[in-house]
Amino acid sequence: MEHIYNFSAGPAVLPAEVLRQARDEILDWHDSGMSVMEMSHRGKEFMSIAAKTEADLRELAGIPDNYKVLFLSGGASSQFAMAPMNLLRGKKSANYVNTGEWSKKAIKEAKKYCAVNVAASSEDKNFTYAPAQDVWNVDPEAAYLHYTPNETIGGVEYNWVPDLTRYGRDMPLVADMSSSFMSRPLDVSRFGVIYAGAQKNVGPAGLCIVLVREDLLGTTVPGTPTMFDYKVHAENDSMYNTPPTYPMYITGLVLEWLKKNGGLEAMEKINVAKADLLYNFLDTTDFYHCPVAKPDRSRMNVPFTLKDTSLDGEFLKQAGARGLIQLKGHRSVGGMRASIYNAMPLEGVKALVEFMKEFADSHA
Ligand code: PMP
Repeated sequence: MEHIYNFSAGPAVLPAEVLRQARDEILDWHDSGMSVMEMSHRGKEFMSIAAKTEADLRELAGIPDNYKVLFLSGGASSQFAMAPMNLLRGKKSANYVNTGEWSKKAIKEAKKYCAVNVAASSEDKNFTYAPAQDVWNVDPEAAYLHYTPNETIGGVEYNWVPDLTRYGRDMPLVADMSSSFMSRPLDVSRFGVIYAGAQKNVGPAGLCIVLVREDLLGTTVPGTPTMFDYKVHAENDSMYNTPPTYPMYITGLVLEWLKKNGGLEAMEKINVAKADLLYNFLDTTDFYHCPVAKPDRSRMNVPFTLKDTSLDGEFLKQAGARGLIQLKGHRSVGGMRASIYNAMPLEGVKALVEFMKEFADSHA
């Protein structure tokens, strides 16, 4: 078989270099006589891995000193509860912007803890755009505003960061950045909390990275389990319990790879080139269709449909035979989805576009 290009939405492709290094180190990490999987999380070897991972993350993302970095388990889905539990701070409501499946899940969970003001929603157009901030109806008294910068399923991405200063008080901006974290430069200081499951751009499943501004720590809703308290994890350097050590190690290797490859500025350039290649092709043909509004198209997840959906199965079969795998769209929306995270090389997108052209020509 030819080279495999894996377009999975997550867990997703990792840099081949990183996997090779992990293979070489799997039995014996740096002459320690141990696999990383066998190390005590409190031993000096793993502590050095954790410290380097955090330092590299801070450097790459430009994380200010007044933000804690937490390495947690429980996935981004646990953050849907942890955000309200930690950030309500005595208030009774929170603002949420609803742009699709992941926003909906966050909203559903938040409703267990507070009143949710849906400040804006793109449901009117089947979640195919990001509502402009001018039309948001924000409750200025609510505890925070939560949004999903990149909707992994719908393929909708904000190419701007909401400005909450216009509501007249310091309202923390909370972002579920699971599928766009580390894909472009970001100004962390604009956010109160950023959380991201690692399994798209930065590592394997099992690790969720949380960045939290220090002044937001310390007030939880009554009954919050210890494991759901950001402050407990912050005070214990994410070692209150056993953190997901192996995913942290692989993430560390991915961050080294990112640094070697020019950091977030360089990633953004490549990601724009990949996304442009695919969207420009999609727009030249009516054999395929991308439903997302042009300014809000995701650089990470590209959903598209075939005009003749009876060809879906054949498309996937022939793509698979060419080494282009995991292109099936999410079960809730159907069609296709190409996820083109950091570790997907430009060649992979070129191979996909070439195949799509040929498939269209032979079924015209
Ligand atoms: N939010 C977004 C935007 C996601 O893409 C995902 C996973 N696909 C999640 C949350 C849930 O993440 P997890 O499965 O790690 O809980």
